[in-house]
Amino acid sequence: MKALVFHHPKKVIVEEVKDPIIEDEKDIIVQVTSTAICGSDLHIYNGFFPQVKNMVLGHEFMGIVAEVGKEVTKFKKR
Ligand SMILES: [Zn+2]
Repeated sequence: MKALVFHHPKKVIVEEVKDPIIEDEKDIIVQVTSTAICGSDLHIYNGFFPQVKNMVLGHEFMGIVAEVGKEVTKFKKR
């Protein structure tokens, strides 16, 4: 899948990353349909929150529930 990846201040790249997997039975995987930039992303982008490794940005999103762990009870895979 494609994601917006922070590399260092002022440098982000849309690139291919591994597809997410259920790692914990309480996890949900959401297929993102819309996302936005948050102030937290801008702090990272501008170097105010130093990051020790590359990271995917974009935690403000909407989407479709694509997978759920076995312990998830409030959401169902669509
Ligand atoms: Zn946010």
